[in-house]
Amino acid sequence: MIPLEDAQSHVMESIKTLESENVHLLQGRNKVITEPIMSNESIPPFDNTAVDGYAVRAIDTKGASQETPISLRVLETIAAGKPPTFNIQSGECSKIMTGAPIPDGADAVVMVEWTEQQGNDSDVIIKEEVSEGQHIRRSGEDLEPGDLVIPEGTLLNAAHLGLLASLGIYQITILRTPTVGIFSTGDELIEGSQPLEPGQIRDSNRFSLLALLERDGFQTIDFGLIPDSEAAIEQTIKKAEDTCDALITTGGVSMGDFDYVKVVLNRLGEMRWMQVAIKPAKPLAFGVVNELPVFGLPGNPVSSMVSYELFARPALRKMSGNKNPYRAIFEGKAAQDFLRKPDGKTHFFRVSADVGEGTPKIQSAGHQGSHQLTGMAGANALAILPDGNGVIQESTLEFLFLD
Ligand code: AMP
Ligand code: MG
Repeated sequence: MIPLEDAQSHVMESIKTLESENVHLLQGRNKVITEPIMSNESIPPFDNTAVDGYAVRAIDTKGASQETPISLRVLETIAAGKPPTFNIQSGECSKIMTGAPIPDGADAVVMVEWTEQQGNDSDVIIKEEVSEGQHIRRSGEDLEPGDLVIPEGTLLNAAHLGLLASLGIYQITILRTPTVGIFSTGDELIEGSQPLEPGQIRDSNRFSLLALLERDGFQTIDFGLIPDSEAAIEQTIKKAEDTCDALITTGGVSMGDFDYVKVVLNRLGEMRWMQVAIKPAKPLAFGVVNELPVFGLPGNPVSSMVSYELFARPALRKMSGNKNPYRAIFEGKAAQDFLRKPDGKTHFFRVSADVGEGTPKIQSAGHQGSHQLTGMAGANALAILPDGNGVIQESTLEFLFLD
Protein backbone atom coordinates (compact mmCIF):
# COMPACT_ATOMS: atom_id res chain seq x y z
CA MET A 1 0.00 0.00 0.00
CA ILE A 2 1.13 3.56 -0.66
CA PRO A 3 0.18 6.65 1.35
CA LEU A 4 -2.67 8.78 0.01
CA GLU A 5 -0.36 11.78 -0.52
CA ASP A 6 2.01 9.71 -2.67
CA ALA A 7 -0.84 8.46 -4.84
CA GLN A 8 -2.17 12.01 -5.21
CA SER A 9 1.27 13.38 -6.14
CA HIS A 10 1.75 10.61 -8.67
CA VAL A 11 -1.51 11.57 -10.37
CA MET A 12 -0.87 15.31 -10.23
CA GLU A 13 2.64 15.02 -11.69
CA SER A 14 1.33 13.84 -15.04
CA ILE A 15 -1.52 16.35 -15.25
CA LYS A 16 -1.04 19.39 -17.48
CA THR A 17 -3.25 22.46 -17.65
CA LEU A 18 -5.27 22.69 -20.85
CA GLU A 19 -4.86 25.45 -23.45
CA SER A 20 -6.77 28.72 -23.35
CA GLU A 21 -9.75 29.69 -25.46
CA ASN A 22 -11.76 32.80 -26.22
CA VAL A 23 -15.31 32.66 -24.90
CA HIS A 24 -18.29 34.84 -24.19
CA LEU A 25 -18.43 36.25 -20.70
CA LEU A 26 -21.31 33.97 -19.75
CA GLN A 27 -19.10 30.93 -20.28
CA GLY A 28 -16.52 32.37 -17.89
CA ARG A 29 -17.83 31.55 -14.43
CA ASN A 30 -15.57 29.21 -12.50
CA LYS A 31 -12.92 29.44 -15.24
CA VAL A 32 -9.40 30.80 -14.87
CA ILE A 33 -8.77 33.96 -16.89
CA THR A 34 -5.44 34.00 -18.73
CA GLU A 35 -5.18 37.73 -19.42
CA PRO A 36 -5.11 40.66 -17.02
CA ILE A 37 -8.13 42.93 -17.39
CA MET A 38 -7.43 46.66 -17.13
CA SER A 39 -10.11 49.30 -16.86
CA ASN A 40 -10.44 51.70 -19.77
CA GLU A 41 -13.25 53.64 -18.13
CA SER A 42 -14.31 55.07 -14.78
CA ILE A 43 -16.83 53.07 -12.78
CA PRO A 44 -19.18 54.67 -11.83
CA PRO A 45 -18.85 56.60 -15.11
CA PHE A 46 -20.34 59.83 -13.62
CA ASP A 47 -21.26 61.30 -10.23
CA ASN A 48 -24.71 59.97 -9.36
CA THR A 49 -27.11 59.71 -6.48
CA ALA A 50 -27.19 56.71 -4.16
CA VAL A 51 -30.76 57.48 -3.01
CA ASP A 52 -34.06 58.83 -4.27
CA GLY A 53 -34.38 62.41 -3.10
CA TYR A 54 -33.42 65.98 -3.91
CA ALA A 55 -30.10 67.17 -5.33
CA VAL A 56 -29.18 70.27 -3.34
CA ARG A 57 -26.36 72.61 -2.43
CA ALA A 58 -25.38 71.34 1.03
CA ILE A 59 -24.96 74.89 2.26
CA ASP A 60 -28.67 75.58 1.56
CA THR A 61 -29.68 72.87 4.05
CA LYS A 62 -27.68 74.29 6.96
CA GLY A 63 -29.75 74.15 10.16
CA ALA A 64 -32.64 72.22 8.53
CA SER A 65 -34.44 69.79 10.88
CA GLN A 66 -37.93 68.46 11.66
CA GLU A 67 -38.56 71.53 13.81
CA THR A 68 -36.87 74.03 11.54
CA PRO A 69 -37.48 72.85 7.97
CA ILE A 70 -36.43 74.95 5.02
CA SER A 71 -38.06 75.29 1.61
CA LEU A 72 -36.34 74.95 -1.77
CA ARG A 73 -37.63 75.50 -5.28
CA VAL A 74 -37.78 72.31 -7.41
CA LEU A 75 -36.45 72.81 -10.97
CA GLU A 76 -37.12 69.38 -12.53
CA THR A 77 -37.21 65.63 -11.92
CA ILE A 78 -34.08 63.77 -13.04
CA ALA A 79 -34.71 60.12 -13.87
CA ALA A 80 -31.91 57.52 -14.04
CA GLY A 81 -30.54 57.50 -17.58
CA LYS A 82 -31.46 61.13 -18.32
CA PRO A 83 -29.00 64.03 -18.15
CA PRO A 84 -30.08 66.99 -15.98
CA THR A 85 -31.11 70.17 -17.85
CA PHE A 86 -30.72 72.76 -15.07
CA ASN A 87 -27.87 73.93 -12.86
CA ILE A 88 -28.67 74.20 -9.18
CA GLN A 89 -28.31 77.70 -7.79
CA SER A 90 -28.89 79.07 -4.29
CA GLY A 91 -32.38 78.17 -3.00
CA GLU A 92 -32.96 75.58 -5.72
CA CYS A 93 -32.92 71.81 -6.02
CA SER A 94 -34.00 69.03 -8.41
CA LYS A 95 -35.87 65.86 -7.60
CA ILE A 96 -33.57 62.93 -8.46
CA MET A 97 -33.85 59.13 -8.70
CA THR A 98 -31.23 56.60 -7.60
CA GLY A 99 -28.50 56.28 -10.24
CA ALA A 100 -29.34 59.56 -12.01
CA PRO A 101 -26.50 62.03 -12.72
CA ILE A 102 -25.95 64.82 -10.16
CA PRO A 103 -26.78 68.18 -11.76
CA ASP A 104 -24.08 70.88 -11.86
CA GLY A 105 -24.16 73.11 -8.83
CA ALA A 106 -25.52 70.39 -6.51
CA ASP A 107 -23.08 68.77 -4.07
CA ALA A 108 -25.34 66.58 -1.92
CA VAL A 109 -28.63 64.70 -1.97
CA VAL A 110 -31.37 64.76 0.69
CA MET A 111 -33.19 61.43 0.98
CA VAL A 112 -36.85 61.65 -0.02
CA GLU A 113 -37.75 60.34 3.48
CA TRP A 114 -36.48 63.65 4.95
CA THR A 115 -38.55 65.84 2.67
CA GLU A 116 -42.16 66.80 2.13
CA GLN A 117 -43.47 67.83 -1.23
CA GLN A 118 -45.59 70.98 -1.28
CA GLY A 119 -49.01 70.96 -2.90
CA ASN A 120 -47.86 72.86 -5.95
CA ASP A 121 -44.90 70.47 -6.62
CA SER A 122 -42.67 73.43 -7.37
CA ASP A 123 -41.39 73.60 -3.79
CA VAL A 124 -40.14 71.00 -1.32
CA ILE A 125 -39.67 71.11 2.43
CA ILE A 126 -36.26 69.82 3.57
CA LYS A 127 -36.07 68.49 7.15
CA GLU A 128 -32.46 67.40 7.33
CA GLU A 129 -29.11 69.05 7.02
CA VAL A 130 -26.77 67.24 4.62
CA SER A 131 -23.02 67.61 4.30
CA GLU A 132 -21.11 68.12 1.07
CA GLY A 133 -20.91 64.88 -0.90
CA GLN A 134 -23.58 63.10 1.13
CA HIS A 135 -25.38 60.32 -0.83
CA ILE A 136 -23.28 61.03 -3.91
CA ARG A 137 -21.45 58.12 -5.59
CA ARG A 138 -18.40 59.63 -7.21
CA SER A 139 -17.21 58.85 -10.71
CA GLY A 140 -14.29 56.39 -10.56
CA GLU A 141 -15.00 55.39 -6.94
CA ASP A 142 -14.88 51.70 -7.85
CA LEU A 143 -12.50 51.78 -10.83
CA GLU A 144 -10.39 54.43 -12.54
CA PRO A 145 -9.06 54.15 -16.11
CA GLY A 146 -5.82 52.15 -16.01
CA ASP A 147 -6.75 50.21 -12.84
CA LEU A 148 -6.07 46.48 -12.81
CA VAL A 149 -9.58 45.01 -12.58
CA ILE A 150 -8.86 41.27 -12.67
CA PRO A 151 -5.34 39.85 -12.44
CA GLU A 152 -4.34 37.07 -14.83
CA GLY A 153 -4.94 33.64 -13.28
CA THR A 154 -8.06 34.66 -11.35
CA LEU A 155 -10.83 32.10 -10.96
CA LEU A 156 -13.83 34.07 -12.19
CA ASN A 157 -16.87 34.40 -9.99
CA ALA A 158 -20.24 36.02 -10.64
CA ALA A 159 -19.03 39.46 -9.50
CA HIS A 160 -16.06 39.27 -11.91
CA LEU A 161 -18.51 38.66 -14.76
CA GLY A 162 -20.50 41.68 -13.62
CA LEU A 163 -17.35 43.82 -13.57
CA LEU A 164 -16.42 42.73 -17.10
CA ALA A 165 -19.94 43.50 -18.33
CA SER A 166 -19.91 46.93 -16.68
CA LEU A 167 -16.74 47.69 -18.66
CA GLY A 168 -18.30 46.44 -21.90
CA ILE A 169 -15.90 43.48 -22.13
CA TYR A 170 -17.85 40.46 -23.39
CA GLN A 171 -15.13 38.26 -24.92
CA ILE A 172 -12.48 36.87 -22.58
CA THR A 173 -9.63 34.38 -22.72
CA ILE A 174 -9.87 31.56 -20.20
CA LEU A 175 -8.33 28.17 -19.64
CA ARG A 176 -10.42 25.40 -21.08
CA THR A 177 -11.99 23.00 -18.59
CA PRO A 178 -11.80 19.34 -19.43
CA THR A 179 -14.39 17.27 -21.22
CA VAL A 180 -14.48 14.02 -19.30
CA GLY A 181 -15.57 10.70 -20.73
CA ILE A 182 -16.96 8.03 -18.47
CA PHE A 183 -17.92 4.39 -18.73
CA SER A 184 -18.83 1.59 -16.37
CA THR A 185 -17.61 -1.96 -16.76
CA GLY A 186 -18.94 -5.18 -15.36
CA ASP A 187 -21.04 -7.93 -16.90
CA GLU A 188 -23.27 -7.93 -13.82
CA LEU A 189 -24.44 -4.40 -14.58
CA ILE A 190 -27.61 -3.40 -16.37
CA GLU A 191 -29.44 -0.15 -16.94
CA GLY A 192 -33.22 -0.13 -16.83
CA SER A 193 -36.22 -0.82 -14.64
CA GLN A 194 -36.73 -4.40 -15.82
CA PRO A 195 -36.53 -7.07 -13.10
CA LEU A 196 -32.97 -8.12 -12.33
CA GLU A 197 -31.81 -11.55 -13.49
CA PRO A 198 -29.95 -13.57 -10.85
CA GLY A 199 -26.59 -11.94 -10.14
CA GLN A 200 -27.39 -8.67 -11.86
CA ILE A 201 -27.31 -5.20 -10.32
CA ARG A 202 -28.04 -1.82 -11.84
CA ASP A 203 -25.21 0.50 -12.81
CA SER A 204 -25.21 3.39 -10.35
CA ASN A 205 -21.62 4.69 -10.52
CA ARG A 206 -21.98 6.32 -13.90
CA PHE A 207 -24.91 8.39 -12.67
CA SER A 208 -23.24 9.49 -9.43
CA LEU A 209 -20.03 10.35 -11.26
CA LEU A 210 -21.77 12.21 -14.08
CA ALA A 211 -23.49 14.27 -11.40
CA LEU A 212 -20.20 14.97 -9.60
CA LEU A 213 -18.54 16.03 -12.86
CA GLU A 214 -21.44 18.31 -13.66
CA ARG A 215 -21.37 19.77 -10.13
CA ASP A 216 -17.69 20.61 -10.59
CA GLY A 217 -18.29 22.33 -13.92
CA PHE A 218 -16.80 19.78 -16.32
CA GLN A 219 -18.36 18.73 -19.61
CA THR A 220 -19.12 15.03 -19.87
CA ILE A 221 -19.40 12.32 -22.49
CA ASP A 222 -21.26 9.24 -21.34
CA PHE A 223 -19.92 6.12 -23.07
CA GLY A 224 -22.40 3.96 -21.21
CA LEU A 225 -22.06 0.48 -19.95
CA ILE A 226 -19.19 -1.51 -21.46
CA PRO A 227 -19.11 -5.31 -21.14
CA ASP A 228 -16.14 -7.08 -19.57
CA SER A 229 -14.38 -7.67 -22.89
CA GLU A 230 -10.99 -6.46 -24.00
CA ALA A 231 -12.21 -5.46 -27.45
CA ALA A 232 -15.14 -3.38 -26.19
CA ILE A 233 -13.04 -1.63 -23.58
CA GLU A 234 -10.26 -0.88 -26.06
CA GLN A 235 -12.68 0.51 -28.64
CA THR A 236 -14.20 2.87 -26.05
CA ILE A 237 -10.81 4.11 -24.87
CA LYS A 238 -9.88 4.87 -28.51
CA LYS A 239 -13.09 6.86 -28.91
CA ALA A 240 -12.28 8.78 -25.74
CA GLU A 241 -8.80 9.66 -27.02
CA ASP A 242 -10.42 11.55 -29.90
CA THR A 243 -13.14 13.33 -27.95
CA CYS A 244 -12.08 13.78 -24.31
CA ASP A 245 -9.45 15.50 -22.19
CA ALA A 246 -9.70 12.84 -19.49
CA LEU A 247 -11.43 9.51 -19.02
CA ILE A 248 -12.96 7.93 -15.95
CA THR A 249 -13.81 4.26 -15.78
CA THR A 250 -15.30 2.42 -12.84
CA GLY A 251 -14.93 -1.22 -12.04
CA GLY A 252 -12.45 -3.77 -13.21
CA VAL A 253 -9.42 -2.43 -11.38
CA SER A 254 -9.28 -4.72 -8.37
CA MET A 255 -7.87 -8.23 -8.22
CA GLY A 256 -10.72 -10.09 -9.95
CA ASP A 257 -10.45 -12.55 -12.81
CA PHE A 258 -12.40 -10.42 -15.29
CA ASP A 259 -10.81 -7.07 -14.56
CA TYR A 260 -10.04 -6.29 -18.21
CA VAL A 261 -9.77 -2.53 -17.77
CA LYS A 262 -6.38 -3.18 -16.21
CA VAL A 263 -5.31 -5.48 -19.02
CA VAL A 264 -6.28 -3.07 -21.80
CA LEU A 265 -4.87 0.03 -20.16
CA ASN A 266 -1.60 -1.78 -19.47
CA ARG A 267 -1.28 -2.56 -23.12
CA LEU A 268 -2.29 0.90 -24.44
CA GLY A 269 -0.64 3.26 -22.04
CA GLU A 270 1.59 4.15 -19.16
CA MET A 271 -0.53 2.87 -16.31
CA ARG A 272 0.15 2.44 -12.65
CA TRP A 273 -1.93 0.23 -10.38
CA MET A 274 -2.00 1.43 -6.86
CA GLN A 275 -3.18 0.06 -3.58
CA VAL A 276 -3.73 3.29 -1.68
CA ALA A 277 -3.70 3.16 2.13
CA ILE A 278 -7.27 4.43 2.45
CA LYS A 279 -10.71 2.99 3.12
CA PRO A 280 -12.87 3.08 1.10
CA ALA A 281 -11.30 3.30 -2.38
CA LYS A 282 -8.09 1.31 -1.93
CA PRO A 283 -7.51 0.25 -5.56
CA LEU A 284 -6.77 2.97 -8.07
CA ALA A 285 -5.50 2.79 -11.61
CA PHE A 286 -4.08 5.92 -13.12
CA GLY A 287 -2.12 6.53 -16.24
CA VAL A 288 -1.86 8.25 -19.56
CA VAL A 289 -2.92 6.70 -22.84
CA ASN A 290 -1.66 8.76 -25.78
CA GLU A 291 -1.80 11.94 -23.65
CA LEU A 292 -5.26 11.10 -22.28
CA PRO A 293 -5.26 10.88 -18.48
CA VAL A 294 -7.29 7.84 -17.46
CA PHE A 295 -8.67 7.25 -13.97
CA GLY A 296 -9.62 3.66 -13.27
CA LEU A 297 -11.80 4.06 -10.20
CA PRO A 298 -12.91 1.12 -8.09
CA GLY A 299 -16.33 -0.39 -8.74
CA ASN A 300 -17.91 -0.19 -5.32
CA PRO A 301 -20.31 2.77 -5.45
CA VAL A 302 -19.00 4.63 -2.39
CA SER A 303 -15.40 3.87 -3.36
CA SER A 304 -15.86 5.29 -6.84
CA MET A 305 -17.24 8.55 -5.41
CA VAL A 306 -14.57 8.89 -2.72
CA SER A 307 -11.90 8.08 -5.27
CA TYR A 308 -13.30 10.79 -7.54
CA GLU A 309 -13.13 13.31 -4.68
CA LEU A 310 -9.57 12.42 -3.70
CA PHE A 311 -7.94 11.87 -7.11
CA ALA A 312 -9.98 12.75 -10.18
CA ARG A 313 -11.47 16.03 -8.96
CA PRO A 314 -8.14 17.61 -7.95
CA ALA A 315 -6.57 16.50 -11.23
CA LEU A 316 -9.42 17.87 -13.34
CA ARG A 317 -9.26 21.13 -11.40
CA LYS A 318 -5.54 21.33 -12.09
CA MET A 319 -6.26 20.81 -15.80
CA SER A 320 -8.56 23.85 -15.57
CA GLY A 321 -5.77 25.95 -14.03
CA ASN A 322 -7.25 25.97 -10.54
CA LYS A 323 -4.48 26.80 -8.07
CA ASN A 324 -6.27 25.15 -5.12
CA PRO A 325 -7.22 21.79 -6.54
CA TYR A 326 -7.62 20.00 -3.20
CA ARG A 327 -10.44 20.40 -0.74
CA ALA A 328 -9.80 22.37 2.44
CA ILE A 329 -9.61 20.35 5.66
CA PHE A 330 -11.57 21.57 8.67
CA GLU A 331 -11.73 20.60 12.32
CA GLY A 332 -14.90 19.35 13.91
CA LYS A 333 -16.07 17.75 17.12
CA ALA A 334 -17.19 14.12 17.19
CA ALA A 335 -20.86 13.98 18.23
CA GLN A 336 -20.43 10.22 18.79
CA ASP A 337 -17.65 7.63 18.95
CA PHE A 338 -15.95 6.89 15.64
CA LEU A 339 -14.25 3.60 16.32
CA ARG A 340 -12.13 1.62 13.88
CA LYS A 341 -9.33 -0.94 13.92
CA PRO A 342 -5.68 -0.32 13.05
CA ASP A 343 -5.05 -1.58 9.48
CA GLY A 344 -2.43 0.77 8.04
CA LYS A 345 -5.10 2.87 6.29
CA THR A 346 -6.70 6.27 6.70
CA HIS A 347 -10.46 5.85 6.92
CA PHE A 348 -12.91 8.28 5.40
CA PHE A 349 -16.21 8.05 7.27
CA ARG A 350 -19.36 9.33 5.59
CA VAL A 351 -20.66 11.94 7.99
CA SER A 352 -22.90 14.93 8.36
CA ALA A 353 -21.07 18.02 9.55
CA ASP A 354 -23.50 20.29 11.35
CA VAL A 355 -22.20 23.85 11.12
CA GLY A 356 -24.96 25.37 13.23
CA GLU A 357 -22.93 26.96 16.05
CA GLY A 358 -19.25 26.93 16.98
CA THR A 359 -17.15 23.93 15.98
CA PRO A 360 -19.00 21.75 13.45
CA LYS A 361 -20.50 18.64 15.02
CA ILE A 362 -19.68 15.44 13.19
CA GLN A 363 -22.18 12.60 13.11
CA SER A 364 -22.26 9.37 11.13
CA ALA A 365 -24.42 9.64 8.02
CA GLY A 366 -25.42 5.98 8.15
CA HIS A 367 -24.07 2.71 6.76
CA GLN A 368 -20.33 2.79 6.23
CA GLY A 369 -19.83 -0.09 3.80
CA SER A 370 -18.21 0.81 0.48
CA HIS A 371 -21.21 -0.79 -1.28
CA GLN A 372 -23.75 1.20 0.78
CA LEU A 373 -24.71 4.36 -1.06
CA THR A 374 -27.33 5.36 1.53
CA GLY A 375 -24.59 6.50 3.93
CA MET A 376 -23.00 8.55 1.17
CA ALA A 377 -26.37 10.02 0.21
CA GLY A 378 -26.87 11.36 3.74
CA ALA A 379 -23.34 12.75 4.01
CA ASN A 380 -22.20 16.32 3.44
CA ALA A 381 -18.65 15.56 4.55
CA LEU A 382 -15.98 12.90 4.95
CA ALA A 383 -14.40 12.57 8.39
CA ILE A 384 -10.72 11.64 8.26
CA LEU A 385 -9.73 8.95 10.75
CA PRO A 386 -6.00 8.26 10.72
CA ASP A 387 -4.76 4.72 11.28
CA GLY A 388 -5.49 3.60 14.84
CA ASN A 389 -8.52 2.92 16.99
CA GLY A 390 -10.59 5.92 16.00
CA VAL A 391 -11.84 8.69 18.29
CA ILE A 392 -14.41 8.90 21.05
CA GLN A 393 -17.28 11.33 21.39
CA GLU A 394 -16.27 14.99 22.00
CA SER A 395 -12.83 14.47 20.40
CA THR A 396 -11.58 16.78 17.71
CA LEU A 397 -11.39 15.28 14.26
CA GLU A 398 -10.63 16.48 10.76
CA PHE A 399 -13.07 16.45 7.89
CA LEU A 400 -13.60 17.75 4.40
CA PHE A 401 -16.85 19.01 2.94
CA LEU A 402 -18.46 17.32 -0.06
CA ASP A 403 -20.20 20.24 -1.73
P1 AMP B 1 -15.02 -4.33 -9.41
O1 AMP B 1 -14.23 -3.11 -9.11
O2 AMP B 1 -15.37 -4.47 -10.84
O3 AMP B 1 -14.37 -5.55 -8.86
O4 AMP B 1 -16.39 -4.14 -8.64
C1 AMP B 1 -16.48 -4.06 -7.24
C2 AMP B 1 -17.94 -4.08 -6.79
O5 AMP B 1 -18.58 -2.91 -7.27
C3 AMP B 1 -18.73 -5.24 -7.31
O6 AMP B 1 -19.64 -5.64 -6.31
C4 AMP B 1 -19.47 -4.67 -8.50
O7 AMP B 1 -20.65 -5.36 -8.78
C5 AMP B 1 -19.74 -3.27 -8.03
N1 AMP B 1 -19.85 -2.34 -9.15
C6 AMP B 1 -18.95 -2.23 -10.16
N2 AMP B 1 -19.34 -1.28 -11.03
C7 AMP B 1 -20.51 -0.80 -10.58
C8 AMP B 1 -21.39 0.20 -11.05
N3 AMP B 1 -21.13 0.88 -12.17
N4 AMP B 1 -22.51 0.47 -10.33
C9 AMP B 1 -22.77 -0.22 -9.19
N5 AMP B 1 -21.95 -1.16 -8.70
C10 AMP B 1 -20.84 -1.46 -9.36
MG1 MG C 1 -16.12 -5.88 -12.17
